[in-house]
Amino acid sequence: MPLSNVLREISQFTHQSFSRERILSLENKNLSTDCSGVIHCLKDIIPIKSPFPHSFKASDIFDFCLEEGAKENIFNLRKNDLIIWKKQIIPKSGDTGHICILMSRPIKLDESHWRVQVFEVSKGASGSTIRDITLITEKDGVLTGVQWHPNTKKVKKTKVIGFNYFKTPTCRHCMRSTFLCLCDHLPKIKIDFHPLVILRQPQEANHPHNSVDIIKHVQTRIEVIDTIKAPEIEGVLLYPSPHSITLSKESFEPYLNKKLILLDGTWRKANKIYLLNNHLKDLPSFHLPPLPPSIYRVRKFVKKKNSLSTLEAYYHFLNIIYEGEEDKHEILIELFKKRIEGEIKLRNLFG
Ligand SMILES: [Zn+2]
Repeated sequence: MPLSNVLREISQFTHQSFSRERILSLENKNLSTDCSGVIHCLKDIIPIKSPFPHSFKASDIFDFCLEEGAKENIFNLRKNDLIIWKKQIIPKSGDTGHICILMSRPIKLDESHWRVQVFEVSKGASGSTIRDITLITEKDGVLTGVQWHPNTKKVKKTKVIGFNYFKTPTCRHCMRSTFLCLCDHLPKIKIDFHPLVILRQPQEANHPHNSVDIIKHVQTRIEVIDTIKAPEIEGVLLYPSPHSITLSKESFEPYLNKKLILLDGTWRKANKIYLLNNHLKDLPSFHLPPLPPSIYRVRKFVKKKNSLSTLEAYYHFLNIIYEGEEDKHEILIELFKKRIEGEIKLRNLFG
């Protein structure tokens, strides 16, 4: 269940109390905790790796986040971030500050006031609520205070920070979220598929969902050129253009020893690479025959009918040209499916 739905469900529990117990049960619809306790309890429900020891109080969490790289500007805040402040003088007992979870994007009210919806556990509400608060900023967006009750004008002038807490654990090898990591599924030895040159739009190189990196993990003969203005390359282009012909085993036969060139980027960006590089228009060009629709529905750009990710295009190329070796190519699409499953799981959790 997505985090925002979990929080909405909790806020409707009939058995709620404000206490230091730190009890949260979705099954029994029971919440008995304080504002920092609910953060600790949520990590048992949402699969994240909490950086805070269980004993941490709001003020400790504030200090920890500040050291780890907290967000101090309204423009950096994102849905699901923690919003935290701490008391200037920490009492021996009782509240040391406050923590809530951002449920919406900040809405600008004027130069220095922003309305946000938050989930919080407070003594006043005897448990959890979802409500609006107002964050106060300088003109440049630096957070300087908070108005907890929009109906009163009372402003608490204090340092307020945001922190991206609901992060999934990261793989130590590839540094990706464990939801997106493919390390355990990669082949031990890379495979020798048809040689490939990929002209990639430079912004795509940093895109976490780029499918070219998966091919790089599997394929031995691959060259990726991150550029808009491509060098002259000898090869055969797989790109639907006015003079491209339908790819088939027979039509490709004269070019079996040539490198395959693919353009990687959103449909619009790949087209820009094609238009900017005249020498690409002189290459023998092929387009794929009609195929089942792309399985890549995670990225927004798959709107154009028949538009495929670069990995899928390559996979279909291999299956057509190297008919009978489909089992060998299967690894590409299997890894791709695993990555998409992870992306969907992440999206379902954190929206
Ligand atoms: Zn990994």
